[in-house]
Amino acid sequence: MSLRFQAINDLSNQTNDVEVSSRKISTIFGENVFTLKTAREYLSDEAYKSLLASIKGGKKIDRAVAGSIANGMRAWAESKGVTHFTHWFQPLTGTTAEKHDSFFTIKSDGTALEQFDGDALIQQEPDASSFPSGGLRATFEARGYTAWDPSSPAFIIEIGSGKTLCIPTIFVSYTGESLDYKAPLLKALEALNKAAVEVCNYFDKNVTKVTATLGWEQEYFIIDERLANARPDLVQCGRTVFGAAPAKGQQLEDHYFGSIPERVYHFMRDFENECYKLGIPLKTRHNEVAPSQFEVAPIFEEVSVAVDHNALLMDVMDRVARRHKLKVLIHEKPFAGINGNGKHNNWSMATDTGVNLLSPGKTPKTNLMFLTFFVNTIKAVHDYADLLRASIASAGNDHRLGANEAPPAIISVFVGQYLSKVLNEIETRVSDKFDEQDEAILKLDIHRSIPELMLDNTDRNRTSPFAFTGNKFEFRAVGSSANCANPMTVLNVIMAETLQQFKKDVDALIEKGDKKEIAIMQTIQKYIVESKNVLFEGDGYSEAWHHEAERRGLPNVPTTPLALDAMVTSKAKHLFEKNNVFSVAELEARHEIELEKYIKKVQIEARIMGDLALNHIIPTAIKYQNELLQNINGLKAAGLPESHYKTQLEILNKISEHVQIVYEKVHALVEARKIANNIENTRTKAIAYCTQVKETYFDVIRYHVDKLEALVDDEHWSLPKYRELLFLR
Ligand code: ADP
Ligand code: MG
Repeated sequence: MSLRFQAINDLSNQTNDVEVSSRKISTIFGENVFTLKTAREYLSDEAYKSLLASIKGGKKIDRAVAGSIANGMRAWAESKGVTHFTHWFQPLTGTTAEKHDSFFTIKSDGTALEQFDGDALIQQEPDASSFPSGGLRATFEARGYTAWDPSSPAFIIEIGSGKTLCIPTIFVSYTGESLDYKAPLLKALEALNKAAVEVCNYFDKNVTKVTATLGWEQEYFIIDERLANARPDLVQCGRTVFGAAPAKGQQLEDHYFGSIPERVYHFMRDFENECYKLGIPLKTRHNEVAPSQFEVAPIFEEVSVAVDHNALLMDVMDRVARRHKLKVLIHEKPFAGINGNGKHNNWSMATDTGVNLLSPGKTPKTNLMFLTFFVNTIKAVHDYADLLRASIASAGNDHRLGANEAPPAIISVFVGQYLSKVLNEIETRVSDKFDEQDEAILKLDIHRSIPELMLDNTDRNRTSPFAFTGNKFEFRAVGSSANCANPMTVLNVIMAETLQQFKKDVDALIEKGDKKEIAIMQTIQKYIVESKNVLFEGDGYSEAWHHEAERRGLPNVPTTPLALDAMVTSKAKHLFEKNNVFSVAELEARHEIELEKYIKKVQIEARIMGDLALNHIIPTAIKYQNELLQNINGLKAAGLPESHYKTQLEILNKISEHVQIVYEKVHALVEARKIANNIENTRTKAIAYCTQVKETYFDVIRYHVDKLEALVDDEHWSLPKYRELLFLR
């Protein structure tokens, strides 16, 4: 029996035997995290103060104190049964990385004991050669090291009965180039903090710190593990490269409103519990549009912590799913013809005085602060749309962006009807002659429309890649499997840059003698005029928008190899270098790494297509043809006229046609790959993989394979079909 039918058989015997704790969330929340509260308990006063100063003010921890913190951490971890520790980091491969060491050691006199010293806490040297470096290593130094990032708390990962203390770290080369997602993110957040505080001080001198906030919404599919294992494409690339559309897809939209199936619900509660223990503040779970598609979202947090938590969540989900004999698919487009997975990044900025800078204010004065940050965001997105586009570019996301349910590759901003009106008012009413009285009236008028504006929250435009949703912007074009750090690094650094310019522009007007508030209003007006091209309230899925965007001169780059060009323009180099986020060498290395990742992903998919076509599809089709032939010959031998086996002949013929084309195209695909592989330049090679390999062959091979699926006897078909993957559980 094929794996497919075994899996289907097993499904009917499926039972929920995994025990899921039903303890109250607040009693388990953060149980496996070395929180400040735990630190207070396990550390000396001196060590605690030093840790606190490092978390709050970025102060360096010295070696002696590190030893004492390490001891405290070990004592806490051991009280929970932990035997090993690891530096935990986010390399550019897109997953998280660990290298476990035990606390266990043997002293020179032979005594065996557990130990964790300050050096081991602060720094480790994982073998960097197995992680991508984009040529940095050749140019600089061979080794890399991980360095403790105290701003993110240590935590314990439980796998079965094994428990490991994880120390969040950044990953850098010996000469200081960052090799991970986290290091540049922290730098971008620092740039934003500085620039935003200065602008806040126009309105409130008490603000001394601004933190960017992130609440991600993670979409995923969950399917039966045994069915998934019978699909080599799902096992190897997380996506089905073939599969005919099922009779019932998502057209009834009954999944979105339906109740969560029991087996999935059980799994959700289990992984949620694991996440709560790790301090991930999950809040919502619900069905998504496509069958077997779901979403999970937390309460928002500081960006750097939220990024860690999302990376952890993806890992936890995958592991917990195995316990339930389920498989999580986080790929951007696991199935053709139905919705793909996204990861909306809800983003805002908060002051240490407790103000959300993207929340419309309660007084005319605080409204001006809101408008300042609101308009600066629009300007940042307008000026650096190409970089935002590049920050979400990946082979997986190419399948999703611009497909009919996902935001297009054109970056535009949706602000809603009322805020559009407010922006128009400012644009027309603020002029050179604009005086204090005009300003006072305008401020009041704007303030009056605020209650209406709040109603606007419900007026959601689902088709926009970057939308204002009442008190935050939602960057919707982010792919589901992406590390949020990449788009967050870009968004925060372009915001920092724009705010710095804003400060300069306003100060220049003040110097010329303008009153502060008038100078601010005039600069806001100028920014609205300069960036209103990026505002779009209509249907982002429509063909008309593509034409309109082209007319406006907005970039529309649908494929990754070309979208990545934006990373290495002189504008980008200047931006990142000036804000101390990437050196030119680091930027070029990253560009190279992203291109290489793209090439490898397409290469793997192409190979899988070839393997499946030659080893599964064609042999199955031929087997069925033989049956038809036997039948035809039998009927012939019985002396029946051709009219009796006309249909059989026709099917036989059709199958031959499809088999022929599949075979030829797979052969040509292999040749195209060979040619692409010989290309020296990484960018040219990535473009070849995109146009000569993927675009030329993927769809056409799939078309004929899916036709065969519809023709061949179901009993022979070895790959689980869409209807089984999506509806059986
Ligand atoms: P929807 O699915 O309608 O977009 P959700 O409620 O699922 O909305 O998700 C909204 C997300 O936005 C949540 O993760 C929430 O925590 C986050 N969020 C809310 N306020 C902020 C904020 N000020 N900064 C960042 N994220 C926020
Ligand atoms: Mg959303």
